[in-house]
Amino acid sequence: MNYRRILVFGAHPDDEITMAATIAKLTDSGVEVAVCIMTDGCEGFPDPSWRDRIVAMRAAEMEECDRVLGIGRRFRLDRPDMGLTYDKQVFKDCIRVVREARPDAVFTHGPAGMNPDHVATHQITVPAVWQAGEPVSADLGEPCEVRHLYYYKDVLTSRRDLGPCVTFDVTGFEHYRLLANATQVSQHTLFGRTREELEAEAQRIKEANEPASETFWLSERFRLTDFPPRHT
Ligand SMILES: [Zn+2]
Repeated sequence: MNYRRILVFGAHPDDEITMAATIAKLTDSGVEVAVCIMTDGCEGFPDPSWRDRIVAMRAAEMEECDRVLGIGRRFRLDRPDMGLTYDKQVFKDCIRVVREARPDAVFTHGPAGMNPDHVATHQITVPAVWQAGEPVSADLGEPCEVRHLYYYKDVLTSRRDLGPCVTFDVTGFEHYRLLANATQVSQHTLFGRTREELEAEAQRIKEANEPASETFWLSERFRLTDFPPRHT
């Protein structure tokens, strides 16, 4: 993870929290982390009375998550939740985001998600990362060649043994996943825990300070011989 800048694509507000400990460790060491969320999270209401304000709630939760994890920049493409599909505009938006963020590495969904927005995010972002490095669509910014592309979720169990993958030591930062989830107040029924319970568990994990790691799968387009990361 010897990077200066990374970019994390997520289908929904909170998907990036899957790799919260890695984000927290990287930002703590000065790495610039940007997050791009594809949809507006408009379907994430556990109570019908929240329907009209869920998008605003989730936007506020994203801001709070950014403060907890040290995320410096967040792009919101605001496509409809449960309705993300490939189209020319969203593809170009992703190219623009890569070129603006100029990351050394990109993290996105793998191909094996159950949620159709996750699958669509994979299908849109993988070619967008490649296209961002090509000398085309000059109105979207200077081409940016991304060194490594990883999947941080939605990888088939069978693939877990096949790799190639990178296991990143996040000892001392594991509790940030709980702290980040605690900020997602509208999703606490999904997590099955209250904010207080999440924060209490974060404190327990912090005090226990047990070895912890997060795993990332290298996209098929990259080879382990591409390592170690090179800075341009
Ligand atoms: Zn999601």
